[in-house]
Amino acid sequence: MTLPPRVLEMKKELLEKIEKVKEFSEKSPTNYELKRITNKLGIITSGISYLYVREALNELKLGLPILKLGFFYPLPEEKIKNFIKNFKKVLIVEELEPFLEKEVERLAKEANCKLKVIGKELIPEVGEIKPEIVTLAIAKFANCKLKIENSLKIRNWKLKIPKRFPQLCPGCPYWFVFGAIKRAVDPKKVIFGGDIGCYMLAGFPPHLIQDYLFCMGSSIGIAHGIKKATDQKLITFIGDSTFFHAGIPALINTVFNNSNPLIIILDNRTTAMTGHQPHPGAPATQNGLKIENVVKGLGIKNLKVIDPINQEEFIAAIKEFLNKKEVSVIVARRPCVQIKK
Ligand code: SF4
Repeated sequence: MTLPPRVLEMKKELLEKIEKVKEFSEKSPTNYELKRITNKLGIITSGISYLYVREALNELKLGLPILKLGFFYPLPEEKIKNFIKNFKKVLIVEELEPFLEKEVERLAKEANCKLKVIGKELIPEVGEIKPEIVTLAIAKFANCKLKIENSLKIRNWKLKIPKRFPQLCPGCPYWFVFGAIKRAVDPKKVIFGGDIGCYMLAGFPPHLIQDYLFCMGSSIGIAHGIKKATDQKLITFIGDSTFFHAGIPALINTVFNNSNPLIIILDNRTTAMTGHQPHPGAPATQNGLKIENVVKGLGIKNLKVIDPINQEEFIAAIKEFLNKKEVSVIVARRPCVQIKK
């Protein structure tokens, strides 16, 4: 158990374990070198970036040595030092943060202090890297720019493709929910909260009814805070599976602290976004729980369960509950159209 005074001993044990794992990392076949004849340039990479490097080298018809790291922490420091000791320049191909780049710079001080370590000046720190990005980076690194001029892949990559927003499926129950809300209230005069699920798409056109979205289960807690701090009207969404997973504690807190957001629980009878897994309230779950019973159990009086296809009933409930002095809940129950019959 990680409890005092044992935690102090555990830190020492942890450091000893890391040393042992480092020895293992040095010998691990997942950290391997692709040897090629050159004493000037090398590439260090890992994961999917390695495949992009191989593809780029093929495209550029270059044969640079590669150190591919499969065991990333702790790093095989001796193996890296041995790899870089004779190079003039090394390119670090890694996505996002320059973790490996900084580590190689540190190791180069011992192994080869004249080594030029190149990473984020050629590989972007933002976004996903692609074979085309790596090809351009290696071409610059190896100073073989002319060879890529006729690359069809690079030319295609530079084409401007219009941005498209993801959309709800045709027939998705959320179309009815979002449509009813826009008929019930002036969206400019209401704050809309979101949570994690397909209904995040409320933030995109044509809906545009989502003012905040943070992490799973946070919608109700943030709604409670906004209602406590301001007198603005607020509607927040949370899906059925997210409600069971992480929404209930925040709802208890909202009731306990006498807050009054309008919470719409989007009960599509499944966990749609991640592939239709069951949850404690899904019809496929034996002895499943009913959301409305959980809500009633907390003493919430303003509660309606409505199929949002009944637009007039749904609109009337929103108008009625939005001005209440206590927390209100509408369970919008209609199954996801993608559930297999
Ligand atoms: S998967 Fe289901 S819930 Fe998600 S957008 Fe499609 S119909 Fe709607």
